[in-house]
Amino acid sequence: MFAALALTGLLAGCSVAQAHEASTVALFLDRDPSSISPEILAEMRLEIARLFSPAGLNFVWRTMDSRIYGETYPQIVVVRIKGGCRVEGVDLLLAKRWLPGGKPLGSAFVEEGRVLPFAQVDCNRVLLCLRAELFGQEQQMRDRIYGRGLARVLAHELYHILLGTEEHARTGVAKSTHTGQDLACESFTFESEQIEQLRAVGQALLAVAPGEQAAGENAEKRPAGAKAALID
Ligand SMILES: [Zn+2]
Repeated sequence: MFAALALTGLLAGCSVAQAHEASTVALFLDRDPSSISPEILAEMRLEIARLFSPAGLNFVWRTMDSRIYGETYPQIVVVRIKGGCRVEGVDLLLAKRWLPGGKPLGSAFVEEGRVLPFAQVDCNRVLLCLRAELFGQEQQMRDRIYGRGLARVLAHELYHILLGTEEHARTGVAKSTHTGQDLACESFTFESEQIEQLRAVGQALLAVAPGEQAAGENAEKRPAGAKAALID
């Protein structure tokens, strides 16, 4: 049984059987990625790579449905991307009506003081946070900004998970609150202190024997129900 207490969730500052390189982190999407615009997903992948490459961490993206028996990685995180991850003009007009403010853009989970390898990103809330930045943009740029913003929210939760911490930084991706501008601007990064901490994680993963963590393990650990503790 899952008996965690909710952990951390990132709040919006706006109104609302393979062996892989040891420094590789596998992100397993737990829902059908076809529900996410391919352009947005591609932008997410680019931004995650950009944010973590200074720390020497690489990411592979997989789906739970396509995992292979015996498939292993040094570190696995299960990622749930909630909501309709597309952006059309009408979505921007209606976004304000969908959701009350004050809810997290993304969450990680803590059980008995341990941050679990499970990240959640709420597409609808990120869209609401980015509404002003998306208005008036061409579709291609909307996808780019939205995908980048979703990636930054996911990166924040990955920071909690990889470092096993509920702490926040004062600035950068690891700070406790992100504004729409933070999520949309051209350059938003981890601060050097967090990069060094993440680099140490990558170095520790180098000591993990290939095949240390099987792809199916984390699926059984993912939080379900009200007992899970959230962190933003
Ligand atoms: Zn946080």
